[in-house]
Amino acid sequence: MSAAASSLLVLDREVVRQQLTMDRCIPLMRAAAIDLSRGITRMPLRQVVPLKGSAKFGVMPGALADDRPFGAKLVAVFPDNFERGVSSHQGVVTLFEPETGRPVCIAHAGEITRIRTAASSAAATDALARPEASRLALLGYGEQALTHLDAIAHVRRLTTVTVWGRSLERAEAFARDAAARTGLEVTACASAAEAVAEADIVCALTHARDPILQAAWLAKGAHVNAVGASTPDAAEIDTALVASSRLIADHRESALRQGGEIQRARAAGLVDDSCVVAELGQVLAGEIAGRTSADQITVYKSLGNVSQDLASLAWLYEAALEQGFGTRVAF
Ligand code: NDP
Repeated sequence: MSAAASSLLVLDREVVRQQLTMDRCIPLMRAAAIDLSRGITRMPLRQVVPLKGSAKFGVMPGALADDRPFGAKLVAVFPDNFERGVSSHQGVVTLFEPETGRPVCIAHAGEITRIRTAASSAAATDALARPEASRLALLGYGEQALTHLDAIAHVRRLTTVTVWGRSLERAEAFARDAAARTGLEVTACASAAEAVAEADIVCALTHARDPILQAAWLAKGAHVNAVGASTPDAAEIDTALVASSRLIADHRESALRQGGEIQRARAAGLVDDSCVVAELGQVLAGEIAGRTSADQITVYKSLGNVSQDLASLAWLYEAALEQGFGTRVAF
């Protein structure tokens, strides 16, 4: 890796959106998950600084490998931004070159997060959902909902989509927009139970602090991407679902130490640490089985991690050097 001396490449939201397509990002996330599980990527647990109200500031450092870039994501999460029409995730991902330690690139963290999170869920869905899964339920209608719809459609042939959120009116607006974009039948539901009742794939994508999804509502053989709750104080899925499903995490230690849903199930005496049967990377590498029967409920517990951000940005940086996109600033 090399770059003009004393300059920093800046990749803004639009550049990230154009270049980091779902087709590109899903395989990147498969490889990143395997590298993380093999210990090739190194990262400490995410540090989170509580801010005013429900806002938080996350610091996520990591190194892809000895001869690959290292860096960090600095990300502010402001849940109330949804009401303001502003992205809830704001920040930067930084990339440093391994030869000299120079910072070489910074990029829009909200956009990388938006894409890599859904791409990772797609990689998990491809590995864990039944091959014929075609009915998708989205819980939440924010940025991740739209991106997950796009991402999941890359790995399964979708026939119907249901969406639920706290406001039926907003769910209906999302459904109209999503149907127009995708050509799929998208139906807004008045309850989460109704939305998931016949779903093969369920994505939980909200800022909820307490469970919005119960194991009892799910159809046999469903696969759940539990994405919205990524801190110890949040839970979208109930303790029964943690206890009764085959649960695969993006990163075992993060899920056990920082995953609110698992912590609640453990505190209730329903599970121990063995409830995380594998990391996604272990399943993708063929080391541990994913789904073991057609009727089983599988859960991909996503907290998100910096290996996903760094793998995305390392690819973007290499592509930018080759193709000349982005803005160079003296540094
Ligand atoms: P948005 O702000 O765009 O959308 C948030 C959604 O949550 C809206 O549908 C909102 O609708 C809903 N919501 C807010 N509060 C509640 C509540 N108490 N109960 C139920 N629904 C609620 O966020 P994103 O789509 O960007 O992100 C969704 C979630 O995923 C967030 O929690 C985010 O932190 C998390 N996330 C996780 C990542 C990971 O790697 N695991 C990465 C990125 C995001 P309404 O207010 O109308 O109910």
